[in-house]
Formats: sequence, C-alpha cells, structure tokens
Amino acid sequence: MNRGRARRFTVLAATLFALVMPTSLLAARNANAQTQADLLADIQVLASDDFQGREPGTDGESKTLRYLARRWFEIGLTSGTNDPAHEWFAPVVVIARVPDGSTAEFARKGRHQILPPGSILMVTSGNRALVRDAPLLFVGRGLKASLGRTELAGRVAVLLDGDMTDSLRQNELLAAGAAAVLTVLDGDRTLENVIGHRKRSGYALADDATGGDLEGFITDKGMAALLKGTALSLKALEESAARPDFQPLALDITASLEATTHETRITTHNLIGKLPGRRPDGTAVLFVAHWDHFGVCAEPPAEDLICNGAVDNASGVAALTAVAEKLSAAPHPPDRDVYFLATTAEELGLLGAHAFAENPPLPLKRIVAAFNIDSDAIAPKGTALAIVGRGMTKLDPIIEDVARHERRKIVANDEANVYAKRQDGWALLQHDVPAVMVESAYGDLPRLEHFFNTDYHRPSDDLKHPIELGGAAEDVDFYVALARWFGDIRKVPAP
Ligand SMILES: [Zn+2]
Repeated sequence: MNRGRARRFTVLAATLFALVMPTSLLAARNANAQTQADLLADIQVLASDDFQGREPGTDGESKTLRYLARRWFEIGLTSGTNDPAHEWFAPVVVIARVPDGSTAEFARKGRHQILPPGSILMVTSGNRALVRDAPLLFVGRGLKASLGRTELAGRVAVLLDGDMTDSLRQNELLAAGAAAVLTVLDGDRTLENVIGHRKRSGYALADDATGGDLEGFITDKGMAALLKGTALSLKALEESAARPDFQPLALDITASLEATTHETRITTHNLIGKLPGRRPDGTAVLFVAHWDHFGVCAEPPAEDLICNGAVDNASGVAALTAVAEKLSAAPHPPDRDVYFLATTAEELGLLGAHAFAENPPLPLKRIVAAFNIDSDAIAPKGTALAIVGRGMTKLDPIIEDVARHERRKIVANDEANVYAKRQDGWALLQHDVPAVMVESAYGDLPRLEHFFNTDYHRPSDDLKHPIELGGAAEDVDFYVALARWFGDIRKVPAP
C-alpha cells in the first residue's frame, strides 16, 4: 500500500466515519421527529374543539373513549378490564355535590342575633346536616391538645381562618367531636371564594362514605354582628388566640344550623387495555394517563370557552398510546402483561385512579410498577428526567439502572416531589401500588411552573400555539425501555 493510497484510504475512512456517525445521529433525530409527529396527531384529535374539553359524562367523553379504544384495538391491545361484562370501559360513578340550602340562626339570652344578609354559608358533604341550639366555643386557630372531646361534644367550634385550601383544621375539630365548625373568614377570603372552591372540590366516588359533617363560613362583618352586645369583639378574640396560654372560650351564644346539598350522579369510565405478556405470570407493569379535562370552562363574552387540555393531558394520553404502539410493534412483547389505563375524573380529585384501585382488574400487589404520565409536553429534547414520588417506592434504583442503560440523566434531587399529590400515581400509592411519574416535564421545573402560571387549566392550553414535544418523544422511548425492563421476570422478580 503506498502513501498515496494510504492517504486516500485515510481520507475515505474519515469520510465514511463522518457519514456513518451523523447517519446514526440523524436516524435518532428522525425517530424523535417521527414520535413527535405521532404524538401531535393524537393530541390534535383529543384537544380539538370537537372533543369539547373531554369532560366526564359528556359527549366529549364518548368521543374521547371511542377514539382511544379504536386506536388501542388497532395497535393490538386487548381489553384490560378482565371483566366480560365491561370490556375496555370500566364504569366509575362520580357524585357531584353542590351546596344547596343553608340556614343559620343564633340566639343569646333567649333573643335572636341578627346577621347582615349574605354573611354566612353552611355546607356539608352529605345530603343534609343540622344541629339545634348548640353552644358556640371559640377555639382560636385550631385544635389544641388541651381541648378534649367532652369540651367539643355538641358544640359549634368557632375557628379563625387560616390557609385557603386546607380544611384539615375543620376536619380535625369535627373528628374530635364538634357538632359543627364555623370558620371566621379573614377578609381576604370571601363567601364567593368558598362557594367557588366547593363547586370545584365537591366530587366523590359514589361508594365513598360522606355526610355527617357540618361546616360553616362567616364573614368578619357577620362575626362582628354576632358578637354585638357581648363583652367581646372579633379583635379581642384574635388577640386572645395569639397568646401562648390561649384557652378555648365559651361564647354564650347558641346556634341552629342546617346545610343541604344538591347531588348529581355522573357515570363515566376508565379505559383499560392490555398487551398480553410473552410469559405471563399474573404480574404486570402499568402505565397510566388521565384522559379527562374541564370541558367548557369559560363563559361568554370570552371568545375561547373550551378547556382543550392539549398539554394536560392529551399529551400524556398520546404518550401512553405511543408506548403501547411501540411495544406492540416490537418483535417480542415483554414477559409480563403490560396494562394501559386512561383514567377519568383526575381533575375532580384523582377519582378514576381511586376507582381503579378499589376495583382493580388484577390484585394490586401483582403490579410490579406503575408509571403515570401527566402533562408531558413541556420540556425540549435533551432535558433530564425527574422522578415524581422519588424515595416513596423501591423503584428508584431500578429506574436509575434503566436511565444509565438508555443514556438518560435523572435529576438527583427530589424537588419534583412537591407535585406528588397532584397526580394519579398518588391515588395508586395510597393503595400501596408502587407508582411514580418519570418525566422530562418535571426535570425542568421553571419551565413547568411557567406553564402552571400561564395556560394550565385555562382555554389557552390548546394547539393555537405550538407545544413542545421533544422531551415527550424522548420520554416515550424511555417508557418503552421501562416496560421492557420491569416486564422482564429475570431482571425484576415478581413481588
Ligand atoms: Zn389538570
């Protein structure tokens, strides 16, 4: 071989090298672009105005479920309900409760205390709750260890307002024996806020026990009127509550309180598909994404009335479908069954996921791992993954093995855990199913928080502007790898 030839060979080798390397990179880039296109195709349908924001119990639900079930059937999944009476669609009955009637009468030394109109609201989670002539007991900012059941029994606990959404203190007082709890609003929070919050949170599964509780909210002006003629003022009560030696104080006022609730039943559905395993042993890997969103969520004169939920969570359902498609198209399925669950009523309080756990298609302890996918269309390609629910299951080290194998980075801290309770995986975790979210969306929290502060839960979470699918497409490949790894009975032995 002469030098000329050698040089030519070197040049040729370098050229080949230059061609070969970019080709594999190019292939990866093309594959990512193809996955992005596949995701977008599903999101375009699910987040279209035609699907009316995918609200449980509406025509938008029928369209969503019909579309997904057809997609999953064509991909090659089978029904995963394991219930011949309900193939594919597992019914979930949700009860919507809206405050209906509210009456409150107060008396002091045998005389009625008159309150300004619109200054008090009584609510219950049941159909009807009432107390008659119960004495008021001022408890300051909450339940004190010194405050016993006997002291609270039959009394209406009067509580100073605290956190906007935390009803824990009210619940604690009711659990400790109070006949009712009356919260004095601090002026920042109005009765309209309370009613609005109740409307959004008054959902439960039909099987859940509710009722018996009686909660009230009174404005600061209402409370001032109530204390008129007594030696006390609201300011004096607030000051006494702030003292370290504060003791509950009987108010020498009695109350007759009643709340009733208007109840609507919504029959909705979880969609459950299954990719049968190559060597099924009764255990399974589960992938989850909620299909529901808020439906028509604004009122005229606003122009855009539909909460299309393109990111939340058409993107997650599209990713779920893409994982099923890739696994099904591969030459061999994993050893274990892989279940695909599109939940309903996540936005109403993770209700579909709870219903799944209460009536599962297989014993929950046979679920090796569950991966929820929520609002994945956030981060660009190359973003690290975060585990939401890190440290809460035994899955982390295995997920990290898969990440190493797939050359994906995982965020080393657990900052994303602040979102752990806001996703379907949490409902499963409450039933001891090892469930996490592993997403690039949570690997870039500032970007995610920007979404929360802008389009999230608003009509603008739609496709009128482009959404980022680079990270989601990479995540799909990672979920496929997770399914293969956790689906391998040698790599991950049955629990
Ligand atoms: Zn949401």
